[in-house]
Order: sequence, then C-alpha cells, then structure tokens
Amino acid sequence: MTEAPKEPAERSLNFIEQIVEEDIASGKNGGRIHTRFPPEPNGYLHIGHAKSICLNFGLADKYGGKTNLRFDDTNPITEDTEYVESIKADVRWLGFDWENEFYASNYFDQLYLFAERLIEKGLAYVDDSTAEQIAAQKGTPTEPGQESPFRSRTVEENLDLFRKMKNGDFADGQKVLRAKIDMASPNMHFRDPIMYRIKHAHHHRTGDKWCIYPMYDFAHGQSDSIEGITHSLCTLEFEVHRPVYEWYIDQLEIFPSRQIEFARLNLTYTVMSKRKLLQLVNERYVSGWDDPRMPTISGLRRRGYTPSSIREFADRIGIARRENLIDVGLLEFCIREELNKTAPRVMAVLDENPIKVVITNYPEGKTETLHVENNPEDPEAGDRDVPFSREIWIEREDFLENPPKKYFRLFPGGLVRLKGAYIIKCEEAIKNEAGEVTELHCTYIPESRSGSDTSGINVKGTIHWVSVADAVEAEVRLYDRLLTVEDPSSEEGDFKTFINPESLVTVRGLVEPSLKVSPPSGSVQFMRKGYFFVDPDSTPDKLVFNRTVTLKDSWGKVQKKG
Ligand code: ATP
Ligand code: MG
Repeated sequence: MTEAPKEPAERSLNFIEQIVEEDIASGKNGGRIHTRFPPEPNGYLHIGHAKSICLNFGLADKYGGKTNLRFDDTNPITEDTEYVESIKADVRWLGFDWENEFYASNYFDQLYLFAERLIEKGLAYVDDSTAEQIAAQKGTPTEPGQESPFRSRTVEENLDLFRKMKNGDFADGQKVLRAKIDMASPNMHFRDPIMYRIKHAHHHRTGDKWCIYPMYDFAHGQSDSIEGITHSLCTLEFEVHRPVYEWYIDQLEIFPSRQIEFARLNLTYTVMSKRKLLQLVNERYVSGWDDPRMPTISGLRRRGYTPSSIREFADRIGIARRENLIDVGLLEFCIREELNKTAPRVMAVLDENPIKVVITNYPEGKTETLHVENNPEDPEAGDRDVPFSREIWIEREDFLENPPKKYFRLFPGGLVRLKGAYIIKCEEAIKNEAGEVTELHCTYIPESRSGSDTSGINVKGTIHWVSVADAVEAEVRLYDRLLTVEDPSSEEGDFKTFINPESLVTVRGLVEPSLKVSPPSGSVQFMRKGYFFVDPDSTPDKLVFNRTVTLKDSWGKVQKKG
C-alpha cells in the first residue's frame, strides 16, 4: 500500500508541471504563472500543508511566477490570529516568501457585489427554508432534488431580502442566499449551492461589520479570480466542486482562474486533519500544537526536522492524481540522510541506571583531553575535546555477565574499545546484595589510544562512554509514532484508541561536557543512539533533548517481533 522512495533524479514532469508548460507554450495569460497557498487560519499547518506549500511555491519558482499567501478566513467561528501568525512563521521557516499576504475577508465587499450581480441576473435567490428542509430537498446522487418554494422570487424581492440579510434584520439560519443552477444535476454541488449564510459572529479581522459570510465555494474561486491566480491547486476532494467554481466565474465574467486537483498527502501512523489534531491538543494527549509527536510543521521543527528535509520529502513523494498512503518512514529517511551528513557526533549515556566503570590502572585524579572527530562523514567538521578519566559511565546494556557468542561489548574478561579513547578489559564485575552489577573494574591498555594505537590489539566492539566527573545531566525525550496503526483512517472507532502509550519515553542522559560549553544550535548525533535536537525547555542547568529519529529504521523489526 505504501510507496517506495523515489530518487529525485528520476523525476519527470508531474502532471501539473505539464499543464503549466502547455499553458506557457500556448501563451495563455501571457505566459504568466501565479499560484496561491490558501490556508484556513483554524489550526497550525501540518506536513500535508507542507506538500501544498512546496507545490505552489515550487511551481512559481520554477516557472518565474509568483505565489500569494491567502488566508481563507470566511468562517469567523473557528479562526484566530494566533493561527495566522503561526502559519506565516511556518511558511517562512520552510523557506518560502510570498508575493502578497491576502485575506479572503478583504474581499467581503467585492464578494457581496458579486452576489448582487448574480441576483440581478436571476441566478441567485434568497431561501427561507431551514437547513433540514434544504437537505431534504437536495435529493440523492441517483434521484433529482426538488426546487425550493422560494426559488421563483423576483429579482427585486431577492435584492431586498439579501440587503436585509446583510443589515442584520434576520437571525442566524433564518435565510440563505443560493445560486439558481440545477436541482436535477447529477453533481450534487450543482443543486443550488448556498452562497451566503447568516452568522452573527465576530470576525478576527472584520470585527462586527458583517453578519453574513460567503461559503467556501462562493469565496474561493472569486478570491482566486480577484488576485489573477492562473493555477489554483487544491486537493482531490474539490474535484466535484470544480463545475461550481467554473460556473461562478463564467456567470460573473471574471478572470478565469483554473482549478487543478492533486492527491492530498496521507501518511502511515499519522492523522492529519486539523480537527483531529485539535482534539489531541485540547484533550491533552500531546503538550500542544508543537509537541514533537505532532505532524505539524511546528512539531516537526521542535522534533529536529529541518526545512530542507521536509522539502526533500515533498520532492520525493511527488504529485499524483490518485490518493495514496505514504510511509512515514520516508519522512524519517529524509531527515536521517541529511543529519548523517551534517550532525556532529557526541557521546551520551542514555540510561536511568548506567554502570560505572573504574579503570583501576589509570592514575587517580588524572584527566586527559582526547580529540574526537566530530563527523566522519564531514572532514571539515574538525574535532572536539572530550575529557577522559579513571571513572566513566557506560550504558547497562553494553555489559553482559554471560554473553552469547558474537557479543562484542563488555563482559568479564572481554575487551572493548571506548570510542575515541582506549581499549579496556573487564577484570571484575562488582555486585550489590541484590546481585545487581554496580561497578565494573577494568584495566586500560595505554598504547591503544585512538589515533596513536600501537598496541596491535584488534577488538570488534566499540562503545560510547562519558567521564563521571565531567558528565552533564540531561533529560532525553525518546519519541516514537503517536499511533499504533498503519492507516488510522481505515480503522473503525475513535482514532484516539490507537494512541501509542510509548510514544514518549523520558530517560536520564549523561552527556559529554562539550554540549554544556557550546550547546548545539541544531542537531547532534548521540553515537549509536540516534539524532537529537535541543528542546526549548532546556535551561542553563538542564539540557533537554528530543530524539528526532533513530539511526536505523527499527520500527519494522519491532513490529514483526511483537
Ligand atoms: P485539514 O483537512 O487538515 O483541516 P484543510 O484542507 O481544511 O486541511 P486548509 O487550511 O483549508 O486545510 O488547506 C490549505 C491548503 O492546503 C489547501 O489548498 C489544501 O488543499 C492543502 N492541504 C491540506 N491538507 C493537505 C494534505 N494532507 N495534503 C496536501 N495538501 C493539503
Ligand atoms: Mg479547509
């Protein structure tokens, strides 16, 4: 069901690029390309929006065009300026700059005049039917609907009533304005769609000026047209709205923007609709819109995703005409690939209960400074100072008292290399009364120092470590998928029953002191553990790290085992 990553190099023109190139070749609109990204400010942007942003801005960039950011703010109830601000910040962060910042609400006057124009042409009428009556008259896809008894009102009566609607003479729901199209059309959206409804509600931009608000179908296409948008890209569910989009443009004789639909992004193990994301926030399943488990842009940012990794992802998934489900592993692949090249390596012992290793032949009180390379993938990255001393921490899972064959980490009598430092040999495991290992007594081989190893000894295993005296405490948040099912939309029942109880596991970290001296501004690789990003909850006394992604895709394996 999921699709394999596509190498960008093999990407041919997608179907929208083909349309655009044909339009340019035929001189349509004078070769002008103008797109828009039209979010409704009723939530934070998610990775699906990122696909749309990359498509709209990417197309304009590629063909020398422009892109507007247009807030589709025609629904006063759910919208808020907090969302407007977050949307702008997220689009900028993704690396795009809009030509104009517009609001559908700026066009309320113009849209109102458009509506009067349709009334004057005998193409719209005021309907007193209730919402239930309108629904009942609508018919079904196989049976025609019935015409409303108010459909034959005169132009004068309609104009008068519509003005009264606007002036606040009626209560919510008492009347609507409908387009007079065709109650027998096989396309349900053609059966006299509603253009305006009455809502005595405060709007975050127009305040109390309006008590009637246009419906999406009457606002969107006209806004496109007002802005001279040449290619209006939207998701597939709007395909059935396209005849209405075109009908309004034709009847109003305004600039013919062209609507083109593409498949929305669906990701495995992820819910995407803002309505569901809002539930997660409001019902406190997550800490907020920017919780690192959320598929929001702000969540991904806090998780440690970079703009370029998200753009790369959008590029790889491409643009299709058919709905599909993309493996979230591809998104993880994109950030992992990038961080492998860019993230400095550091050592961190992530363990509530690490084991202390005492190197008995290392002088007490001595600390030496080792120079450990920052990134083997990037020779330019240089190296950093890492203190080494007689006592170090290692993770409990790097020691086994009775190891199986081919266990290359520490065990009694065994040798292992400490990353960037020496080879040590485990001489003795010290236990407490409960039989739990509390300390390992080891010896080190002085000639085996990394970079100047003359010991001639070869060991198979290398483990990471942190000097006890220099270790810096950190809180490390290990994130995993928020949902346990691959395709939440195909499951019955409330999606929240599939929340992964282990989607956040917090552990104690003991990290090397280089992180304290120069806290990384971006990402680091905790060697052998994964890529981590400093969380804004960090304070000078306590670093907090979010796990962006593990070093390898371990999910498939765990699933099979479980
Ligand atoms: P949601 O259903 O998540 O609330 P929406 O479509 O209502 O999303 P809008 O703010 O209206 O959200 O969307 C702004 C633009 O982003 C639209 O052009 C919409 O088609 C596009 N978009 C939204 N979700 C996706 C998605 N999953 N994949 C691709 N594009 C999307
Ligand atoms: Mg919407």
